[in-house]
Amino acid sequence: MNLIFLGPPGAGKGTHAVRLAHELGIPQISTGDMLRQHVRRQTALGVEAARYMDAGKLVPDDVIIGMVRERLQQPDCAKGYVFDGFPRTLAQAEALSTFADIHAVVNLLAGDDVIIRRLSGRRVCPACNGTFHVRYLKDPAICPDCGGALVQRADDAEETVLNRLTVYHRQTEPLIAYYRQLGLLRDVDSAGEVDANYLDIKKALNLA
Ligand code: AMP
Repeated sequence: MNLIFLGPPGAGKGTHAVRLAHELGIPQISTGDMLRQHVRRQTALGVEAARYMDAGKLVPDDVIIGMVRERLQQPDCAKGYVFDGFPRTLAQAEALSTFADIHAVVNLLAGDDVIIRRLSGRRVCPACNGTFHVRYLKDPAICPDCGGALVQRADDAEETVLNRLTVYHRQTEPLIAYYRQLGLLRDVDSAGEVDANYLDIKKALNLA
């Protein structure tokens, strides 16, 4: 199954994509994670990408498309994959359609107020890649899974979150109409509790 998770930043794309990919035994492909790896390793791509990411802007389409096209050639993608945070522009979606066959697109719905609350409290663990919300943590500085030190992503600072939401509405939201027209879109409300959301996603994909 080749799937896409669509939705504003903080709608739960990462959380659900990781879980579903694990359950289906296929890779989760997060362009955000791939870019952050480049930034950490200080590659030429990473140095260029960081300028956009830190400002909450999108990294240029040609960089992203090249990176994804290469990733899909890896043998672990042969049985399917779950995209998380890609495509984010019409140009990316159109390019993708030339080298991949998408079976369904989960569109996670959440209002801007929910997003701002979620992202400003989000903490991530660089050691195990876990994502948490301060509201559910005993100690907001310690990863409950591996004991590593939790950090706030630079682009989760409030001003950058507002930029990312503007960018989402302007550049990514048009993909909803694009995939609806292709008959691939599955709308799922993601404002509620995580496990209930996950079940709704599986039902929308006829997997539960
Ligand atoms: P994410 O972790 O998916 O929220 O992505 C973090 C940041 O990486 C975004 O705010 C963008 O700057 C960049 N990014 C991730 N995926 C894409 C994409 N498909 N197209 C352009 N920029 C992206």
